[in-house]
Amino acid sequence: MNYRKLLQLPQKWTSRVMNNHAIWLGAAASLPFMGALTAVAVTQGNDPAANKPPVQQHVTETLTLPPLQLASNDSSRYWREEPVQRGDTIARLLNRLGVRDSDATRFIYSSPLSRDLLKLKTGATLSVQLNDQGELFGVRFLNDDENGESVLVNIEKVGNNWQASADAPQTEAMQTVRAVEVSSSASAALASAGIPVEIRTQLNEIFSDQFELSSMKRGDKIDLVYETLLYNGAPLTTGNILAVEIERSGSQYQAYYFAHDSESGAYYDAAGKPLKKGFNLQPVANSHISSGFGMRYHPILHALRMHQGIDYAAGTGTPIMAPADATVDTVAQQNGYGNVVILRHNNKLTTLYAHMSRFQPGLKVGNKVKAGQVIGYVGTTGRSTGPHLHMEVRINGQAVDPATTALPTRVLNNSERLAFSKQSVKLAANLKLLRDIPVTVAQLD
Ligand SMILES: [Zn+2]
Repeated sequence: MNYRKLLQLPQKWTSRVMNNHAIWLGAAASLPFMGALTAVAVTQGNDPAANKPPVQQHVTETLTLPPLQLASNDSSRYWREEPVQRGDTIARLLNRLGVRDSDATRFIYSSPLSRDLLKLKTGATLSVQLNDQGELFGVRFLNDDENGESVLVNIEKVGNNWQASADAPQTEAMQTVRAVEVSSSASAALASAGIPVEIRTQLNEIFSDQFELSSMKRGDKIDLVYETLLYNGAPLTTGNILAVEIERSGSQYQAYYFAHDSESGAYYDAAGKPLKKGFNLQPVANSHISSGFGMRYHPILHALRMHQGIDYAAGTGTPIMAPADATVDTVAQQNGYGNVVILRHNNKLTTLYAHMSRFQPGLKVGNKVKAGQVIGYVGTTGRSTGPHLHMEVRINGQAVDPATTALPTRVLNNSERLAFSKQSVKLAANLKLLRDIPVTVAQLD
């Protein structure tokens, strides 16, 4: 699944409080500005030598409350979450919960949903809607469809009839805004601000042509807005960094994400200039990204399968080129990836090419390849439903979006530039909002 597809759903600005401390809700209520943002300003102890624990200052602003949806006949129903155990089927799990509904189980197993979709994965979570009498009204769980994309299997009773569907899960996107001040190192400051590792890796990459985050010093500042996706109200995964401003040794740096289409995008400075040069080449010529980088594995839901890379639309036999100089790290046949090649470009960056119909003859682990050299040919080996190139980029082992980290960044055309400036002005305003929060109203943890 690609979270950007999900983002095309109507975005609900939620009024959710990420860190639910009543004490700073009170503080937030007195704040003068409007908007629905969760803002966390974080600084570390003033004197790093004193080795004080980091000080988190939370301010939450939640003024656009959506109406509570309480259908009257639903009031006695509730959702129960049940972990899937080894060998569980839906019927067996319902049985364990004491649910006896032969209509439901008969429907489930004769529904149009495929057997594979109804197969539960050990460790996944099955949500069951019941009422006080233990009557069953719904069953939901996340599963992978035949393309390896995540779908929400939803079986529900509407009136007296059962219905089934399997669609991309309806996640809500929320912008998380954070302000971080460095006291010892950027990585320590980001970690103590609770910023997810994917976001930290992205942040490092965005500015890697200009400076390393590790060069940031005490007093330097990072303000950022990134996407958090919520499923059933709980943070499911992070998306892209949308905007970031850095103050480093008195200089200002800005980056704004701009989506080229629903599948990919890149980072640009405030003037709309590409921030990263990236590789000089695409791995397949005259192709486009048919499926973008998706959500990542979630430690709580287990079941969620993410798209760890991007797919290029290309026919069987299309040559795949090394997009940059590299050393061949892996040439192998693997179950999911099929014929796969991994290239190492430097001590932190590797790229992976999967589902190849065949390798370039003679390609061996340890070979040096030049940018543009053919390493193999597009195919559909492994877990694949049709010919395409699945490409991944890893930075220090962390899967990142190839489009924003490694692939050539293209220049924006005139209409894109216009859209970009409108969007970046809005994001810059969100960042400014955060900077203007009076720290005195913030609550110390
Ligand atoms: Zn793929």
